[in-house]
Amino acid sequence: MTSTDSPDCLFCKIVAGDIPADVVASSDTAIAFRDIAPKAPVHVLVVPKEHYPDVPAFAASDPEGLASLIALADGVASEVADGQYRLVFNTGPKAGQSVFHVHAHLLAGADLPGFA
Ligand code: 5GP
Repeated sequence: MTSTDSPDCLFCKIVAGDIPADVVASSDTAIAFRDIAPKAPVHVLVVPKEHYPDVPAFAASDPEGLASLIALADGVASEVADGQYRLVFNTGPKAGQSVFHVHAHLLAGADLPGFA
């Protein structure tokens, strides 16, 4: 399934340029744009251009794409923060996923709270 196969998907519309976003980086396979409701001083969403609903589907179908997405996130973290960051893939509604086009939350720019 490609991004153009999911006309109702918010992030497919951002990838296509049909909805504006503050894009900070892109590659052949992914884009990175600032979250509309940031939860940290740096809060960027890193999104594959192809549509996959969540990270296990993405990893199963395109592991190289997932590696490329992480490389793009790492580059963004070095450019807009100090290279120290948290990557979060919410997977499923109980985990807080609300947009079902896989995306990594790149959080940085502050001392982030621990989980324990
Ligand atoms: P999730 O809850 O699925 O893990 O993350 C979805 C994220 O998308 C949320 O952090 C939310 O703030 C962000 N978001 C929702 N709508 C938009 C939008 O139209 N533009 C941007 N840039 N971010 C959005």
